[in-house]
Amino acid sequence: MTRPDMLKRAATHRGSWDFIIIGGGATGVGVAVDAASRGYRVLLLEQSDFGKGTSSRSTKLVHGGVRYLEQGNISLVMEALKERGLLRQNAPHLVSDLAFVVPSYAWWEAPFYGIGLKLYQALSGKYGFGKSELLSKKQTLQRLPNIQTEGLKGGVMYYDGQFDDSRLLINMVTTAAEQGATLLNYAKVTALTRNKEGWIDGVTATDLENGKTLRARAKVVINATGAFCDSVRQFAEPQARPMIAPSQGAHLVFDRSFLPGDTAIMVPHTSDGRVMFAIPWHGHTLVGTTDTPINNPALEPVPLEKEIDFILSTAALYLHKTPTRADVLSAFAGIRPLVKSGDGSNTATLSRDHTIHIDQSGLLTITGGKWTTYRNMAEDCVNQAATLAHLDEKPCVTRNLPIHGHHAKAQQFRALSVYGSDAPAIQNLIRDDAGLGERLHPDLPYCGAEVIWAARNEMARTAEDILARRIRALFLNAKAAIDMAPGVVELMARELKRDAIWKRKQVENFKALASGYVCNPAS
Ligand SMILES: Cc1cc2nc3c(=O)[nH]c(=O)nc-3n(C[C@H](O)[C@H](O)[C@H](O)COP(=O)(O)OP(=O)(O)OC[C@H]3O[C@@H](n4cnc5c(N)ncnc54)[C@H](O)[C@@H]3O)c2cc1C
Repeated sequence: MTRPDMLKRAATHRGSWDFIIIGGGATGVGVAVDAASRGYRVLLLEQSDFGKGTSSRSTKLVHGGVRYLEQGNISLVMEALKERGLLRQNAPHLVSDLAFVVPSYAWWEAPFYGIGLKLYQALSGKYGFGKSELLSKKQTLQRLPNIQTEGLKGGVMYYDGQFDDSRLLINMVTTAAEQGATLLNYAKVTALTRNKEGWIDGVTATDLENGKTLRARAKVVINATGAFCDSVRQFAEPQARPMIAPSQGAHLVFDRSFLPGDTAIMVPHTSDGRVMFAIPWHGHTLVGTTDTPINNPALEPVPLEKEIDFILSTAALYLHKTPTRADVLSAFAGIRPLVKSGDGSNTATLSRDHTIHIDQSGLLTITGGKWTTYRNMAEDCVNQAATLAHLDEKPCVTRNLPIHGHHAKAQQFRALSVYGSDAPAIQNLIRDDAGLGERLHPDLPYCGAEVIWAARNEMARTAEDILARRIRALFLNAKAAIDMAPGVVELMARELKRDAIWKRKQVENFKALASGYVCNPAS
């Protein structure tokens, strides 16, 4: 899968596509996988890199959402729990079970949360991940040796799923391509075109690598641009009323010593009435998140000072070792594309259900939902889009469609386990050139072969594509990622045949971007 090949596929395509999808996040790529695997002709255009938006910035949970249970949204929880099970079945190399403990500091908490979590387990039916159970104080400490002990009474343990969001997304891009879809990154849609009846029948886009204009026609155009979907709707109808209430969520990453072991902490009620997680992730500790209403979504959102302070102070209540700003290895934020309801300003209470909206011009927008439910969202979207376009009905096949990289025993590949069935090919690169097996940084497990692999097979075009989304260096340790940039750029330049000016720019651009992930001491 290379970008030049994809450009060629797009240029040689005759006639109209069945679907053009705008947006290369979980929603858009999910729709591409679904539509292509049914046999429809699909073009997907992403303005930046695949996963550059919210889909690389999640809490990395494949979950039903304990919080939605509390809100009484049983149907969303059941749908998500089922999708959680299907995702583990279809991408076992990237989705795994994780034990969570809700620590209790008041006598009533363990029985109260215990009942709720039994219901959560029951709702998952045959897609269950493990039994929930009440823990004594001693058992809680065995699971969470670094939990705050003062006032600790015990806890409740339950199971949910965890994944690597942008790696799954890249594997979904490959899956869609293998099913016949054409997917282009760095192709920004700038306008929509109409037929004589005024119906949207295509897009105009700019190839951001060479500035050329791309034009393509389709029976239906699908807007899957997440928090940006209103601006694309306004290409069709400048007066369209916004449907998104964007909300930012921040995360902080610390080293493993803050949460040793393999168990996550779930705090069901923070002082702002949300849940917060501390999760072991790729040998680090990930803590989040927040829910801050914002006005204008940015492609590169930055955590607010108040979000950083809130996460640090909440984590300090539960972790024995108090985390400080100096301990933060990476700070990142993402934007939730929440669908508006009324004029309420509390985005935490807005529904996480997905919405499909068809404008009068025929533009179909799909937004909201969760990473976990992307497959079900895609099935719903393709069903409706096919009806809208009068296409032949074709059944959805994604329930049992393995995602590229599917491997039941990927743990055997150790540091390369996230690549699943691709891991042996990466090992071969190292066999041919032992230097490619060396670590790119002493604090992170990544090696040069992964850079070559991503540039050669996964459409990585920039240092950021590699360091942020093909490997997760930027999200785990921003300073280490900055140190790695020159070596990564050197390897990319060798693979993609780039010159010295390109190399210098790549390092400069990456350093500027990564500085937004470094948490500076408060002024
Ligand atoms: C803080 C936070 C934590 C979360 N945690 C979880 C979790 O643990 N589990 C879970 O299931 N869900 C979670 N979610 C929800 C989940 O991440 C989102 O629902 C999902 O990623 C949204 O995907 P998307 O494709 O709709 O949007 P995005 O990933 O934002 O993709 C939209 C894409 O459209 C592109 N685009 C925009 N305009 C154009 C244009 N003109 N031309 C071409 N492309 C364009 C953008 O560049 C972007 O890549 C979380 C969300 C947030 C914010």
